[in-house]
Amino acid sequence: MINFHPTQQQLSDFAQGLSAPALSLVISAHADMCPQCKRQISQLESASAKILVEQPFDRMAEQPTDFASMLAEITCLPAAEGPSNISQSHQIELDGRKFSVPRALKRYVEKTGNWSHLLGNLWQAPVDLGPIGKANFIFMQKQGRVPEHTHRGTELTLVIDGEFSDGISHYDTGDFILMNSENTHAPYSEASEGCLVFTIVDAPLHFTSGIARLLNPFSHLFF
Ligand SMILES: [Zn+2]
Repeated sequence: MINFHPTQQQLSDFAQGLSAPALSLVISAHADMCPQCKRQISQLESASAKILVEQPFDRMAEQPTDFASMLAEITCLPAAEGPSNISQSHQIELDGRKFSVPRALKRYVEKTGNWSHLLGNLWQAPVDLGPIGKANFIFMQKQGRVPEHTHRGTELTLVIDGEFSDGISHYDTGDFILMNSENTHAPYSEASEGCLVFTIVDAPLHFTSGIARLLNPFSHLFF
């Protein structure tokens, strides 16, 4: 069950097209998995569309019927996909296991590199987001553990499949997590099926405890 959602402010900014691109992508992917946020976003979008309609301005006068595509542009949401766009390749695969990704991430499946094994039951596949930056799919096998770390920037995480804990909370499929330099955590999964997450960090992690501090020179591995 989804317990962690973007804040009201984040949803409102998203609906108005004001979110940073990385945040916008992760909120969009979360909304694909979360009917509650999807509904709120569409309400917020119609509210801002109404404001636009009530305020006459030139561009609207030129294209009075094109609200849908304009809003799609503003919110970075792809226009609705027809059935022809749905294909089997919209899954990512690790060791023969296939995972469906939310609609907003489908276009990045082909931009996902090979899996590499990190330390301790952790697997990572880099994702090229083009101008948005870099992301990673991280898979924590059962007992997989990311050493305790804090963040020099922000760390956005969406749980794609499975569940994990980090010493702060327990997260389930669909949960949206935003961490920054004020948060120190150590993600691990005890689920027998492991846990797949999609994560975007805008600066390398900083490992904080014990022997993991020795990893700091390699923290770009997670970046
Ligand atoms: Zn939500």
